[in-house]
Amino acid sequence: MIIVARKGITPDELDHIRERVEALGLRTHISIGETRTIVGCIGDEARLSHVSLMSIPGVDSVHPVMRPYKLAARDFAADRTSRVQVGDRTFGGSACLVAAGPCSVENEGMMKATGHAVVKEGAALLRGGAFKPRTSPYSFDGLKEEGLRILARVRDETGLPVVTEVLDPRDAELIAGYVDMLQIGTRNMQNFSLLREVGQLQRPVLLKRGMSATLKDLLLAAEYVMSKGNMQVVLCERGIRTFGAETRNTFDLAAIPWLKMETHLPVIADPSHAGGRRDLVAPLSFAAVAAGADGLIVEVHPDPETAVSDGDQSLTFGGFAGLMRDLKVFAEAAGRTL
Ligand code: PEP
Ligand code: MN
Repeated sequence: MIIVARKGITPDELDHIRERVEALGLRTHISIGETRTIVGCIGDEARLSHVSLMSIPGVDSVHPVMRPYKLAARDFAADRTSRVQVGDRTFGGSACLVAAGPCSVENEGMMKATGHAVVKEGAALLRGGAFKPRTSPYSFDGLKEEGLRILARVRDETGLPVVTEVLDPRDAELIAGYVDMLQIGTRNMQNFSLLREVGQLQRPVLLKRGMSATLKDLLLAAEYVMSKGNMQVVLCERGIRTFGAETRNTFDLAAIPWLKMETHLPVIADPSHAGGRRDLVAPLSFAAVAAGADGLIVEVHPDPETAVSDGDQSLTFGGFAGLMRDLKVFAEAAGRTL
C-alpha cells in the first residue's frame, strides 16, 4: 500500500502519518521526490483497513500496489528512478555510470594497472571477482580474501568504488567489510538465503538477472533483498539462455525499457557476458544506453589473451578508451552524461 502525501505536507504531518502506520505493526518507507512524497507501507496491509487513512492530515490518496513485488514496484518510490549511492557515485541520476575491470582479480599488478587505465577514461566503478562462480569445479575460483584486500587497495589508490561478487551467505559480511557494492551473479539470482543475507547488510547490491529468469523473477529477487530493509538495489540485464549458439547469451534489450517502466530501481547492462565476444561489447553498450540504461558493467583486462577467465569478451585498455569515447554520443542522445 502506498500513501501519497498532499503537496506542501509539513514534516510534522509526515511524521504523524508514519507513526499511525507503524502503530499498526507495519514498517514504512518514505520517499521524497521532486514532485511528490510517498509513504510506502510494508507488512500486513489488512491492518490498515482499521484506520481511515484518508482522514489523517496530509494524506492526498491511498493506493494498493497491484503487483507481486511491492517495494520494487514503480509506484513505491516518488521519483521515476531511485538513486542508489555507491561511494561517491550515484546510480539513477543524470550520469550513466560505467563499472569496468577484469572478470577475476588475478594479482595486484593487473588490478592496479586496470584501475588506473579505466579511471582515466571515465569509469565510475571498478569491478573484479575475488570469489568466482565457475561452471567447472576445477577452474580458478578466485583469490578470496587476498583478492578483496587488493580491491580495497586499488580503490584507495584510484578513488574508484569497488563492486565484487558474493557467492555464499557465509562470506557476505566479510566481503561487505572490503567493498562498496555487492554483486549477486546470474547463477545466484534465486539463492534466497543469499538475497536475504545481503538484504540485512547496508551495502548497495548489484543484482544480475538469472540466465533463465523472467523479468518478474528478477523483480521478486530484488524484493527479497528490499524486504530485509536494504533498498539499495541496482538491476542488471546480462543476457539470457536461448537456443542461439552464436553469442554466449541473448541480450534482452527490451528488458531495459520494460524494467524502467515497471520499477523505480536503476537498471544497468552487462554487454560483456551478454555477447561473450569483445567485438560485440561496443554495439551492445550503445544499444543499452540508447534504451535508457543507467549504466554498464564491462570487462577490461590488461592482456585479455592471458586472462584466467572471460578473456574472449574482455576489452583491452585501448578498446575501453574507444568504447568510452564513442559511448558519449549515445549517452547524450539519451539525455545523460557519462
Ligand atoms: C561476472 O560478472 O564476472 C559474472 C560471473 O557475471 P554473471 O553472473 O552475469 O555470469
Ligand atoms: Mn566474467
